[in-house]
Amino acid sequence: MTLLGDADDAPQQSGMHEVDSAILDMHIKELDEIEDAVRRIQGAGYGLCIDCLAAIPFQRLSVEPQTLRCVACESRHERDMRA
Ligand SMILES: [Zn+2]
Repeated sequence: MTLLGDADDAPQQSGMHEVDSAILDMHIKELDEIEDAVRRIQGAGYGLCIDCLAAIPFQRLSVEPQTLRCVACESRHERDMRA
């Protein structure tokens, strides 16, 4: 086994790289969400919470156009993600 092999599956990568790629993943996910939001703006259903179908306040949408949930469902969702 060589340490000069592909970085792809090297288990002892530095922590920095893991953080970088985590941040990158996050940005990619954000971009996906924004693209999703744009698609939904063009279709029906944009501005409705995907969990409870309540209308998401315009103020929230203007700050976070890609948001999928109302404040209540989003905080529950984030709690679930962390659990
Ligand atoms: Zn909701």
